[in-house]
Amino acid sequence: TKHTSIKEGKAEILLKTDQVFYNPVQEFNRDLSIAVLTIFTNDYKAEVLVKNEKFAQNSKYKEKVDTEVDITILEALSATGLRSIRYAKEVPNITKIVANDLSPKAVDTIKENIVHNEVKDLIETSQDDACMLMYKHKQYWKRFVAIDLDPYGCPSVFLDAAVQSVQEGGLLLVTATDMAVLAGNTPETCYSKYGAISLKTKCCHEMALRILLQCIESHANRYSRYIVPLLSISADFYIRVFVRVFTGAIHCKNTTSKLSMVYHCTGCDNITLQPMGGFKPNPTERNPAQMKAYLPTAPPVGEFCVNCNQRHHLGGPIWSAPIHDELFVTRVLTHVEHNPELFGTAKRIAGVLAMVREELQDVPLYYTMDRLFGRVHLETMPMLVMRSAILNSGYKVSYSHASRMSIKTAAPSQVVWDIIRTW
Ligand code: SAM
Repeated sequence: TKHTSIKEGKAEILLKTDQVFYNPVQEFNRDLSIAVLTIFTNDYKAEVLVKNEKFAQNSKYKEKVDTEVDITILEALSATGLRSIRYAKEVPNITKIVANDLSPKAVDTIKENIVHNEVKDLIETSQDDACMLMYKHKQYWKRFVAIDLDPYGCPSVFLDAAVQSVQEGGLLLVTATDMAVLAGNTPETCYSKYGAISLKTKCCHEMALRILLQCIESHANRYSRYIVPLLSISADFYIRVFVRVFTGAIHCKNTTSKLSMVYHCTGCDNITLQPMGGFKPNPTERNPAQMKAYLPTAPPVGEFCVNCNQRHHLGGPIWSAPIHDELFVTRVLTHVEHNPELFGTAKRIAGVLAMVREELQDVPLYYTMDRLFGRVHLETMPMLVMRSAILNSGYKVSYSHASRMSIKTAAPSQVVWDIIRTW
């Protein structure tokens, strides 16, 4: 066995066995999670204090207003404990972290590292199946304020337990690394794991994020809960989403208006969305006429593509509502820009978040330059020329952080093809 020690952030990890998983490439993922948790726990604490204050004003025990807010975090699949130790040392506000892993070797490693890093006041270890542990924390007084799921491959088997054991307004941090499945190589497997058909398209990375969000939402909806995405990132070989979970049966009725089926043209690669719900109905309205409004009002997408008359493939459903909270992203970005010394990957985080903030939120998915021009065997137009042509046609345009060659625009595909024809 090899003995190694790894330094990352404020943690130093000892690894006495190569049977416990450690991936240095995920430093960006861990740095980003720390930045997100720093801002989120601040917000959460402030919100709970306001709630407690209001509650106290309306109760006869005014002097007993609770000013302590417990911030508990579960790292359900912890491996070396690196992430938990970094959270303990680098995220303010935390009162307790549970670092769990099924493997006894991993838990031994976590225990050693807790001692080595002097964080035993903040971190508890647990050796259990992640789901079993989460199910034991379903009661609202036992729930975690944040749950981090960083599995090998697909996280969907952990979602049923996770959406039930996170606090009201709490945060789920979810990684998926099975990109081949999510990006359309095996659409059937994607359906069985995530409940949505993936497609092999130019915008597969954002589609992967939207499939995962759709999947988390559907698990939450079973328990009258729903998600609000704060940040959704595609990076390297994985995706990572940060979503808050709230409760409200009436809000769950809005889910269909946040989902769409995806029509993908086999000829020109064009993508058309078919919303699953027509518009946002008034969730408090209960009369039958209003209920009809839940059905899609958009005309169904035809069998053939309007641009090239080829057949469509059908994928989805995907989450077609916003995937980031702009204000929240701005605050994380500002925090990282003001404290670059705190993050080994500060530059990269700032770059990615700046792009994320510019993304057109109301335009799901995107074109890519190489694919558009590849289809018609033309030399690719400079990005700037394409972008200003779209702007000149009266439509907004942005990049997606998920692809360097991306063009996000609400311009109809006919407009985009007209621009290409003039080239
Ligand atoms: N979060 C870690 C990090 O940032 O370094 C990496 C986690 S690693 C990708 C996945 C871990 O999940 C492995 O250590 C494995 O032993 C553990 N694991 C797999 N299935 C599990 C289960 N059902 N319950 C708990 N842990 C599990």
